[in-house]
Amino acid sequence: MTHRIGIVGSGPSGFFSAEHILRMCEECEVDMFERYFDPFGLVRKGVAPDSPKIREVTRAFDNIAKNPRFAYFGNVEVGRDISISEMLIFYDAIILACGMETSQRLGIPGEDLPGSYTANSIVGWYNCHPVYRSLDIHLDGRKAIIIGMGNVSLDVARILLRRVDQLKPTDISNEAIEKLEKSNIEEIYIVGRRGPAQAKFKENELLTLKELSDVDLMVKEDELILNEASKKEMKDNPSIERIVTFFERLRNVRRKNSKVINFLFYRTPIRVNGRGKVEEVIFEKNNLVGEPYNQKTEGTGIIDTIPCDMVVASIGYRGNVLPGIPFDERRGIIPNEKGRVIKNGNILERIYVAGWIKRGPVGLIGHNRADSLETVSCLLEDLPKLEKCTLRNREEVIRFLHNKNIRYITYSDWKVIDEYEQYQGKLEGKIRKRVCSIEEVWEILGKSKNCYT
Ligand SMILES: Cc1cc2nc3c(=O)[nH]c(=O)nc-3n(C[C@H](O)[C@H](O)[C@H](O)COP(=O)(O)OP(=O)(O)OC[C@H]3O[C@@H](n4cnc5c(N)ncnc54)[C@H](O)[C@@H]3O)c2cc1C
Repeated sequence: MTHRIGIVGSGPSGFFSAEHILRMCEECEVDMFERYFDPFGLVRKGVAPDSPKIREVTRAFDNIAKNPRFAYFGNVEVGRDISISEMLIFYDAIILACGMETSQRLGIPGEDLPGSYTANSIVGWYNCHPVYRSLDIHLDGRKAIIIGMGNVSLDVARILLRRVDQLKPTDISNEAIEKLEKSNIEEIYIVGRRGPAQAKFKENELLTLKELSDVDLMVKEDELILNEASKKEMKDNPSIERIVTFFERLRNVRRKNSKVINFLFYRTPIRVNGRGKVEEVIFEKNNLVGEPYNQKTEGTGIIDTIPCDMVVASIGYRGNVLPGIPFDERRGIIPNEKGRVIKNGNILERIYVAGWIKRGPVGLIGHNRADSLETVSCLLEDLPKLEKCTLRNREEVIRFLHNKNIRYITYSDWKVIDEYEQYQGKLEGKIRKRVCSIEEVWEILGKSKNCYT
């Protein structure tokens, strides 16, 4: 008997889960639901456009999608267009691979002043995300502060300061290019609560900053002081040592007419000030106290005020609540054991999680492969014991969507858009010109006579 598995989300964890299921279970069929028309989650809507090699992983996803036991339903949002309980009518088991789409907030006064943005919105703006592509971003000031010491902060800093002629050939949105061409931003502060030994940067990402030939990287010596506990953390961990060494080796010279990224450690933001728009951020300087790997920040009462024209909160992501699914408010994830969803201490049968929504917003694309394998192994182990869904045929799902008047995108529709983007890109000397709205999608599909109505 065929087993029917539904996957919610088409990011890396969704595709890797599909790959494992199709390979490990010959009687399994997989249907993938994605709220946007385009697949690949953060690979398309998160990864910075100046890292095109990283997006090449989508070729592997294309191969997975070629399997006849796989189907893609784009432009279908689970929780809005189809509920989890409706999905359970069509699928023996469901994997939630819906990622984390909400930015953590700073939670300080002034955070909502004009000129204050989340990293999520800026990343979405340059990546043509349907929600953020028309972000009303003002780049007329000179100074920006990015709060948070992770790779996303580096991506945002790099895109804001990179020469526009280097960005134009990428798949960055044309709306972003128009604004970046007029940008006056020339000085960025990247600020963290803890020290260089606790920064979440990957060394490779830090090295990408060195590609910016007209940008100087600066950090003052006293920012790099480590207490004994941090020295121990560094001694135990070569990757931390490499990060600290990266900062120690910076030449700290600002050339005439260069742009600059300043790194500031040991500062907690306490307020954003401004009359009608962001003008400065007030930080309190911190010490770190406690045992190695368990150090906490402790305020010193010393205030540091940094004038700026924009501020970007880049302090992490959290998942969205799905109706009927438990949610861990503290961690922003769906509670689970090895991918089996846990509700009130018990396993919630037939529901599984994979990727960021399972373990939190950590790890690169490749990490989601092993993570999905763990989930799929549990699912396949449980499968013979699970209650079976009642409508056991893909045609039933299609009928359901038609009856609800939901226009969905198949994978072959997506390939039409994919080719169109590459073709239009070629005409403009870009890797691809992104299609950003569903209206544009219908128009292109209509013209190509490949449209599902
Ligand atoms: C800004 C940024 C840059 C990054 N850059 C890199 C990089 O350069 N290299 C690297 O290796 N890693 C990078 N990462 C990490 C990488 O993107 C993640 O490890 C990976 O995308 C997580 O995969 P996921 O499938 O769990 O989530 P996602 O990629 O977020 O995919 C989740 C998918 O689920 C969909 N979805 C959500 N809710 C619903 C719903 N209700 N119904 C239907 N669909 C839904 C979403 O639209 C999305 O397509 C970056 C992350 C970010 C945030």
